[in-house]
Amino acid sequence: MNFNKSKAAYEEAVDLMPGGVNSPVRAFKSVGMSPIFMESGKGAKIRDIDGHEYIDYVLSWGPLILGHADERVVTKLKETAEKGTSFGAPTVLENELAQLVIDRVPSIEMVRMVNSGTEATMSALRVARGYTGRDKILKFEGNYHGHGDSLLIKAGSGVATLGLPDSPGVPKTIAQNTITVPYNDLESVRYAFETYGDDIAAVIVEPVSGNMGVVPPIEGFLQGLREITEQNGTVLIFDEVMTGFRVGYQCAQGHFGVTPDMTCLGKVIGGGLPVGAYGGKREIIEKVAPTGSIYQAGTLSGNPLAMTAGLETLKALDESSYEAINKKVDRLIEGFTAASNKHHIPLHINRAGSMVGVFFTNEKVINFETAQSANLDYFSQYYRSMIENGVFLPPSQFEGLFLSTAHTDEDIEHTVKAIDTAFASIE
Ligand code: PMP
Repeated sequence: MNFNKSKAAYEEAVDLMPGGVNSPVRAFKSVGMSPIFMESGKGAKIRDIDGHEYIDYVLSWGPLILGHADERVVTKLKETAEKGTSFGAPTVLENELAQLVIDRVPSIEMVRMVNSGTEATMSALRVARGYTGRDKILKFEGNYHGHGDSLLIKAGSGVATLGLPDSPGVPKTIAQNTITVPYNDLESVRYAFETYGDDIAAVIVEPVSGNMGVVPPIEGFLQGLREITEQNGTVLIFDEVMTGFRVGYQCAQGHFGVTPDMTCLGKVIGGGLPVGAYGGKREIIEKVAPTGSIYQAGTLSGNPLAMTAGLETLKALDESSYEAINKKVDRLIEGFTAASNKHHIPLHINRAGSMVGVFFTNEKVINFETAQSANLDYFSQYYRSMIENGVFLPPSQFEGLFLSTAHTDEDIEHTVKAIDTAFASIE
């Protein structure tokens, strides 16, 4: 396979942008490749600038649940663009998307649109802190919530210690307000609350973790968080940037039947355009400016194009869309399992709706530590073979793969064959 045009574009890009990319994971570093530059996408297919076509399981890292360039979305986007792309004054499109989100997401009575998942989580934390008058937050190891200072924190040594900056530029004083504990570990959460309970403004959690590979909550974990936060007057925030409208029609909170106080959204609600949102109980969200004194704003927030793409995407989804995607996931998992048995490749598969995490390990993956047991060399061999066979996957062991309503049974069968070929070649 030749990637001459991608290689030339990359050589040009490295002089222009750090690593030649505008977001680090696009650099393909962990699979030992240089970036593949994309040209176009239609349905479940994506095409690179060298003319190779792939079945796409990245889907822009989750947003494209209808696949690329869905006709309904594109038609409405053109109509909206012709009327003007931003006004700096409200539009009824914002009401429509807000109403849809409020109707479908159990915890959201009121919502504020922003421009990315990062903005949603940063803003949600400020609101939780402003609302409770407390400074500390608790997050989980291996959960990613965007690159806001308070959230780019790694665990300190020991259980439930105060955090350390995960990146130069994050002040220690900010990191000290973030407590990090292992995912799926209620005992550590209880311990943290015994130590810091009165100071903890918020617990923020990915209800299904999608940023250490896919790791679903174990039985009782989310319910336990709900109880502990309620007892301590702490705001429970579900970061559903990835799981929102992906795990199910009513997001992860509907799927698991646990209702947080606040929810962060992104990805699918923007249908491939830059959108984020945070929302929750009316009494909390009303504290945001201009009704309340907690400040948060955005020049392009609620942008008409972004609202249009989100609206058309959400309107196109109903309960049956998720059932249809889930059936395709069932078949894909069958394919993975069969290939792993046939070729004696250690494999653990986690799944929540159409989020699928494939780990090259015999261990059960329930948290960051167990996720680390995956064989990264196997992953990069598998990854490169899949590319050779026309399947585009997230270039990291620690990212899940996504399906869309546009993936056909033929796409899945092609992928299952490619998995067999890849596993046969792993050495
Ligand atoms: N939260 C979660 C759970 C995410 O997966 C991501 C991005 N992958 C973010 C927040 C940050 O979103 P964005 O990249 O749009 O800033």
